[in-house]
Amino acid sequence: MAIKRSSDPQPTPPQPRKSHKPRPNYEVTLLSPKANDRENEQNEDKIRPQKLADYIGQKDLKGILNIAIAAAKGRQEPLDHLLLYGPPGLGKTTMSLILAAEMGVNCKITSAPALERPRDITGLLVSLKPGDIIFIDEIHRLNHMTEELLYPAMEDFRLDVTIGKGQTAKTRSIPLPPFTLVGATTKAGALSSPLRDRFGIIQRLRFYELDELTAIVKRTAEIIKTSITESGAVEIARRSRGTPRIANRLLRRVRDYAEVQKADTIAEELAATAMELFDVDNKGLDWTDRLVLSTIIEQFNGGPVGLEAIAAATGEDRKTIEEVYEPYLLQNGYLSRTHRGRMVTDKTCQHLGYDVKSENRQTELF
Ligand code: ADP
Repeated sequence: MAIKRSSDPQPTPPQPRKSHKPRPNYEVTLLSPKANDRENEQNEDKIRPQKLADYIGQKDLKGILNIAIAAAKGRQEPLDHLLLYGPPGLGKTTMSLILAAEMGVNCKITSAPALERPRDITGLLVSLKPGDIIFIDEIHRLNHMTEELLYPAMEDFRLDVTIGKGQTAKTRSIPLPPFTLVGATTKAGALSSPLRDRFGIIQRLRFYELDELTAIVKRTAEIIKTSITESGAVEIARRSRGTPRIANRLLRRVRDYAEVQKADTIAEELAATAMELFDVDNKGLDWTDRLVLSTIIEQFNGGPVGLEAIAAATGEDRKTIEEVYEPYLLQNGYLSRTHRGRMVTDKTCQHLGYDVKSENRQTELF
């Protein structure tokens, strides 16, 4: 692919690594949907919707769960095991907490890396009350032993434990109260099929539309008592990569900026200026997105290039690129995935201010 820099570049792409451009220290906390700043944790409970009716967007998912809740309540049984998959920050944990509230049960939240030893999962399972929900984040990372213990637990509400060693070892079955397992993952394909098959409901969470994110920004602004105009909320929503957690985080940063500027309300222009300051561009791409894309352009001639090579050239973690950054770039046409690796698109080049000769891309591709 032939790419040259256009004479009038639009947003400045970050220089690839060799330029040693200092890396700003805020982009990870601002845009990474995984980032866990302390303020975020403290406010999380206030901001999280508590009822299905307050959960904005994800219409298909809500429709299916509404029926499942009504049916389970009617039969006085726990909900079917549920697998939620999609990029981080889209509302998987929130949905699990809402389900528990709607069913009137407790929700125990854990993640696969915390369930390292068999006694971690057995301890959790024996402490359950009838109908309780266990939420396991990053469920694709469960180890084999924990997974094996979960199979009879999910299927027959039974815990099979081995007592003793060698020839004298015996297996004992301990009955468990009926419960619901909600698994969350960014990679549904990475789950083993015996585990995946034990979920009665498997649902994907989608990136949110602009109007849905705008509603989320306005709702959060009201909760944190911040005045915002409609167009101010749209401006924040537009730069939030379709992700509620990012929308909420950007809103808090813009609120800080508004306070320092002594502005009474967050209007469109103020929101835009604040986010430019935080290096979030008008398409919601941050410094790392632009680094990844411009590295593919400048060092790999636009691609195709493998993930390992991108990670090595940018100094970013391979998994972070794959699970946090790439889904949004792929879905929004800034990256494409071929069997030979990742490629940038014409849209990327236009956005970052490079000229592209599309006919050359054809030659590259075929
Ligand atoms: P995940 O578990 O998928 O990483 P979370 O459930 O922790 O994401 O959601 C991140 C934050 O985004 C929550 O604190 C919540 O405030 C907000 N959020 C997520 N989904 C919604 C939604 N549908 N409506 C309103 N706010 C949401």
